[in-house]
Amino acid sequence: MQISEAPGRNSDKPREECGVFGVWDHADAAALTVLGLHALQHRGQEAAGIVSFDGERFHSHHALGEVGENFSDEAVIRSLPGDRAIGHNRYSTTGDAVLRNVQPLFADLASGGFAIGHNGNLTNARRLRRALVERGCLFHSTTDTEVIVHLIATSAKDSVEERLVDALEQVVGAYSLVAMTNTAMIGVRDPLGVRPLVLGRIGGGWILASETCALDIIGAEYVRDVEPGEIVLIGAGGVRSLAPFPPRPKRLCVFEYIYFARPDSSVESVNVYEARCRIGEELAREQPAAADVVVPIPDSGVPAALGYSREAGIPYEIGIIRNHYVGRTFIEPTDRIRHLGVKLKHNANRNLIRGKRVILVDDSIVRGTTSTKIVEMVRNAGASEVHMRVASPPTTHSCFYGVDTPERNELLAARHDVEEMMRLIGVDSLAYLSLDGLYRALGERGRDAGAPRFCDACFSGRYPIPLVDRSEGDTDGQLSLLAETR
Ligand code: AMP
Repeated sequence: MQISEAPGRNSDKPREECGVFGVWDHADAAALTVLGLHALQHRGQEAAGIVSFDGERFHSHHALGEVGENFSDEAVIRSLPGDRAIGHNRYSTTGDAVLRNVQPLFADLASGGFAIGHNGNLTNARRLRRALVERGCLFHSTTDTEVIVHLIATSAKDSVEERLVDALEQVVGAYSLVAMTNTAMIGVRDPLGVRPLVLGRIGGGWILASETCALDIIGAEYVRDVEPGEIVLIGAGGVRSLAPFPPRPKRLCVFEYIYFARPDSSVESVNVYEARCRIGEELAREQPAAADVVVPIPDSGVPAALGYSREAGIPYEIGIIRNHYVGRTFIEPTDRIRHLGVKLKHNANRNLIRGKRVILVDDSIVRGTTSTKIVEMVRNAGASEVHMRVASPPTTHSCFYGVDTPERNELLAARHDVEEMMRLIGVDSLAYLSLDGLYRALGERGRDAGAPRFCDACFSGRYPIPLVDRSEGDTDGQLSLLAETR
């Protein structure tokens, strides 16, 4: 993860979305890690890294770009020997997209080697970093994860295990971590469990992964989710579990179900695809529209559109085709190119749309770029009416816990009410799922029916973990003097 001053893909202060993976005790540890990272590619496409351990030495390979481009070569896999390995996929925007920020990070501690990969975002990383630098720590990256490494290195405790707990007691934020020492692989989920992490089995070995789809790709068996606040230590003696933090109510990121996780994954035992279908059904109940056809904005709107169509009894058609050879819209670095990206990415299937009243379903509207372009395309294809239905509440707040979202003022719903957005996007009607409806679709009675089970800050503005650096106004300023491009 990156220490970021402010959210936003366009700023040169990147935030990240990430995937983590680890293998313990398997002859093909590095090859399995490559496959696992490939399955988790949707969580981060900018860079990837693997660190392996052969019983004596650690080996690493880090690269900018997608996993397939950089890790499919036999020679790379051979350069990562050993029966344990951990890996990381990273997505940030521009600026600090440099190799020294690519994880897993590695350090030689007094106790031996230590490698770590992080999905999430620490909210007090700047404050901690400043204190550590004053104590003489030399930072090599601008990632928030490195703060954890220095806290472990400088801890007064004895074992790595105790030092890790000591370090985690000082950090605030969202984190799912996979780490490796000379003698153990470690998985950690923050006390609220904002980001997912699962434990799996392969033969006699163990796997840690952000999502279950990464277990499936290697034929590993799902054992269980790592619990919020849990530290899982995998060593020669098997798996040990520590729960060093006082128990707190879980707050899994609800956006994992809406958009982020892969639909074939199960997060906390709920299948993401099925959850998205139920979200679509709820949306149809809450926000019906008279129409001839329900069309998803592919791929993110597909399961919700299916659910909507089923519930509304309106036929589902793949009225928009997505070209899969273009990266995600969001990865285009500037607004100008982002517009172009949408055109490159989608095309309307005219025959299905001409003369029809169309309900377009997408999982979320962020800046509104995608929907505006698609609505125009669908109108040009001859739709008689276009109704937009969004399978989440309006995205009004930035995420500071590891999902890349723009600055608040770039979020369409933070600046406009639904009426205005309807005009801006150019639709005949626009409606969102309510927050209570979202909770209902996920098996709860409502947002505030009990203690909320999810982190929904991007929709509610209610941040469950303190934004320490931000509340201290510490969101700006250079972290490294080193000018580096790649
Ligand atoms: P926008 O064009 O900015 O409104 O983006 C909306 C589209 O981006 C939707 O189709 C979403 O599926 C997708 N999306 C939402 N959140 C993210 C994210 N954090 N990263 C990448 N894509 C996203």
